[in-house]
Amino acid sequence: MSFQPPKGTDDITAPQSQAWRDTLSLWEDWSARFGYPLVSTPIFEATDLFERGIGQVTEVVTKQMYTFLDQGDRSVTLRPEGTAGVVRAYLDSGHQGPWKGAYSGPFFRYERPQAGRRRQFWQVGVEYLGTSSPLADVEVIELGHRFIRAAGLGEVDLLVNSIGDRTCRPGYVETLRRFLDQKRDVLSDESAALIDRNPLRVLDSKEDRAELADAPRMLDHLCDECAEHHKKVEAGLDSLGITYHEDPNLVRGLDYYTRTAFEYVATGLDAAQNAVGGGGRYDDLAEALGGDRAPGVGFALGIDRIILALGTPERRHLDAYLVSETGPDDGLRVASRLRAEGLRVDVDVDGKPVKAQFRAARRLGAPVVLVWKGDGHLIDVQTEGERAELPLDEVTRWFGRS
Ligand code: AMP
Repeated sequence: MSFQPPKGTDDITAPQSQAWRDTLSLWEDWSARFGYPLVSTPIFEATDLFERGIGQVTEVVTKQMYTFLDQGDRSVTLRPEGTAGVVRAYLDSGHQGPWKGAYSGPFFRYERPQAGRRRQFWQVGVEYLGTSSPLADVEVIELGHRFIRAAGLGEVDLLVNSIGDRTCRPGYVETLRRFLDQKRDVLSDESAALIDRNPLRVLDSKEDRAELADAPRMLDHLCDECAEHHKKVEAGLDSLGITYHEDPNLVRGLDYYTRTAFEYVATGLDAAQNAVGGGGRYDDLAEALGGDRAPGVGFALGIDRIILALGTPERRHLDAYLVSETGPDDGLRVASRLRAEGLRVDVDVDGKPVKAQFRAARRLGAPVVLVWKGDGHLIDVQTEGERAELPLDEVTRWFGRS
């Protein structure tokens, strides 16, 4: 067969898929612990939602969206990020006051594919809406931090910044623009082109790091309210024992952020793909989408990159493989019983010889082989170093030992 997945997309199969399953189920656990119920929004939305929400000058909107006309001539777009859709859902629900939602699913950006940069990728994230409390920022940042650690990523650097709000940012942006204008000749073409359109984004430039070292810092130009907010966020992180670094150049790619911006960086990965996630506060987004003012804060984490950092796992999707010496009908019946009791069991359905069934058990990485010999009550339990005959009734309990 000559079909392959489209450029920049992947098939995820075992054993890699086990890491996906584990990581996504860990996400369900951690987001629930912090009190975020699931929110699931459509994978495509009206194009306008993203243009208004993400901003027409960001690369995600201008260059990376999968946009097409549907059969009713409406312009729709495969979601490139999660926040705009969730805020739309929140506004549509008519809810007033604090509201939380956690999501998990595929997103789409027309990017130049490489490891950790895909055209279809998976993000998990949360949004905490209807509160402007800095403690909401702290809670959100903590959740991301704990989840990434629990997923098994060792060293993760948390970068934090404030990008001000509509009171203090315009003045700062003007100061920054003047600074950048003087450097126009020494900056990369890409940065120079951004000076007039979106000067904040120049700070993102990796190429121009040295030239930007003495750029004016938003942190020095915050209005009193933003400065106070920032101080409380940092104090909150301190009180929870979460280590972070202030990064004055952290602006994030999307236009709707106000005040807190943060990013999680896996220091063990290549620079091109070491940003495993980030987020921030977006107090003006709901209004930009035509709703009432609803402050909010959230993050998105890239699962593809987290999995990449974890490496290929051992195969371990099974608790046991059941070998039947009396044919596949018996095998399936016994397996069915053990599955009903909660064990993850695989079994041959083709009537393969016993030796071939053992080979299948090894190939599938089953840590335990159960051998059904046809005795109505007993089953053989075999592991690498152990062999025992157990009453069928006790097998599941045997797995729960330790
Ligand atoms: P963003 O929505 O751009 O703030 O991205 C949040 C996180 O999603 C990033 O830190 C990445 O881990 C992940 N991400 C974003 N774009 C891609 C992509 N094209 N491929 C894989 N992961 C991505």
